[in-house]
Amino acid sequence: MSMPIVKPKSVFYKAFKRDEFKCVYCGRDLLENLDTFASCHLDHLRPKKFGGQDNEEFNRVAACGVCNSIKGSFDPLPGEAVTAESFSRAVQAAREYIKQKRCDEERCSYVRDYKYWLEEAGRNR
Ligand SMILES: [Zn+2]
Repeated sequence: MSMPIVKPKSVFYKAFKRDEFKCVYCGRDLLENLDTFASCHLDHLRPKKFGGQDNEEFNRVAACGVCNSIKGSFDPLPGEAVTAESFSRAVQAAREYIKQKRCDEERCSYVRDYKYWLEEAGRNR
């Protein structure tokens, strides 16, 4: 017997639908497989530590685990709240930031950590 599918009415539901089930930063299909879906996040465009709210629809975006990790606490619009009007500008700024960090390996702690652990695990080529 299968469980009934309950449609979530949360901020997550609204944002996930608006973002068409894709990571807003890299475009990855978050419904690609169960693992991808399970590791996706509802990212705070403006991080909570800069005043970004949990329940503001435009402050929440669908993001894959990798982009969310790379973005970290980057604030795309310093001193400005994310609203319907500033939404696409904020997404674009965060996209650029993530893209830059992905390209610039030495500045990306994510890449440094990966290389470190490859070495530690004896898997370096
Ligand atoms: Zn992504």
